[in-house]
Amino acid sequence: MHDHGKDGNEYFKCDFCCRGWAEELPMIEGHRGSLICGECLTLAYSAVNGSLAKVMGDQGSCALCLQYKSTAAYESPTVPGCWACQECITRSAVLMERDNEVGWTRPGITS
Ligand SMILES: [Zn+2]
Ligand SMILES: [Zn+2]
Repeated sequence: MHDHGKDGNEYFKCDFCCRGWAEELPMIEGHRGSLICGECLTLAYSAVNGSLAKVMGDQGSCALCLQYKSTAAYESPTVPGCWACQECITRSAVLMERDNEVGWTRPGITS
């Protein structure tokens, strides 16, 4: 999310853990300024591809694409009701991996 009350790096916050952008905390942007950081993406990626996958409630929508998806999804443990759908997680993982400076790799899946 974009925190309009803050300047600099703190202006950019991960929607899922509410931490500010930092060099060691890379972020991928979704629709309408939504953001997911590398650490949350790791958690989300493991969740939707492992045994912790959840399905959004009827009122849910993905924070990154703003759509309801009936596929596997990840709910933020910090911000209940803040979901990421499998499609957005996979898309973000591809983008994050493509950025060599970030050095992010998707986690190995153990289920
Ligand atoms: Zn995060
Ligand atoms: Zn989505």
